[in-house]
Amino acid sequence: MPMFKPARLLAAALCLIAAPALAETRVVTSLKPLTLLAQSIATPDTTITTLVPPGSSPHNYNMKPSQRRALDEADVIFWIGPDMETFLSRLLAGADFRQRTISLAAGKATMREPEESEEHAEHGHDDHAEHGHDEHAHHDHGEGEDPHIWLDPALAEDMVETMYNSLAQQPNADTDTLARNLEQFKTRLAETEAEIRTKLDPAQDVSLFAYHSAFVRFAEHYDLNLEGILTLNPELTPGARHIAKIQDQLGHRHHPCLLTEPQFNPGIWEVITEDLNVTFSTWDPLATDVEAGPEGYFDFQHSIADAVLKCLPEQAKH
Ligand SMILES: [Zn+2]
Ligand SMILES: [Zn+2]
Repeated sequence: MPMFKPARLLAAALCLIAAPALAETRVVTSLKPLTLLAQSIATPDTTITTLVPPGSSPHNYNMKPSQRRALDEADVIFWIGPDMETFLSRLLAGADFRQRTISLAAGKATMREPEESEEHAEHGHDDHAEHGHDEHAHHDHGEGEDPHIWLDPALAEDMVETMYNSLAQQPNADTDTLARNLEQFKTRLAETEAEIRTKLDPAQDVSLFAYHSAFVRFAEHYDLNLEGILTLNPELTPGARHIAKIQDQLGHRHHPCLLTEPQFNPGIWEVITEDLNVTFSTWDPLATDVEAGPEGYFDFQHSIADAVLKCLPEQAKH
């Protein structure tokens, strides 16, 4: 007669109950907008942790020990790349992380070393003019050195596809749901883009000036008139020559609008523009106040368009 060991049976049963918990996929992203993109396709068994907290800038962030632990435990790490989150560059290049780290800039958007020259400021606008894209003729998304790629919805779509490929490869991934979510994301993104183009129509001729290069890719995608960038490197104070040049540009525009960001102190520019007829509007490239969830990225795109609309003379507050 075989000897049944109830304790062993119980242990086996507990294993079966505990098994689904192992299917959980732990994702860590560097920035909230990447979390929004991941949430747009992730299945409910995915936990997503964001490293850079509200109010901090990815250009000069320092990680906390608890975040280092989240990285250690992550199944997948999504980040832009070494030109963006400099605080992660050395760590993620290490043997512990290389295999599970996905650089979203490494795919379609090729990156070059950031230039520090003054001429850099006009790149956004000059590139825009050179390409001469009309209405929706598409610009070359892979080109350019600016690492704020999540602001361009077409690049965001590439990023979500990269995320999909990585999430679908996880053990026990629900690939059917992931694929369905990806298709839904693409449909919703196309709808959102069309809504935003219509919304931005009255703002095509406004002279826009952005605090730092984060605005370039959104402006290019929606054919906005971005005339200058105030701070070439958000970690450095702009040089006197660059300030004088921007001041001159602002003074010669009919109704210039300066797009500021909550992560940076606009104090110096408020002083410089004191005697000029400049409208200020705040937008947030890090989506700080956008509600997290599968609709988050679309709300984020709309929030940027709404900030641009605040530049229109009839809506502007002085
Ligand atoms: Zn930035
Ligand atoms: Zn685009």
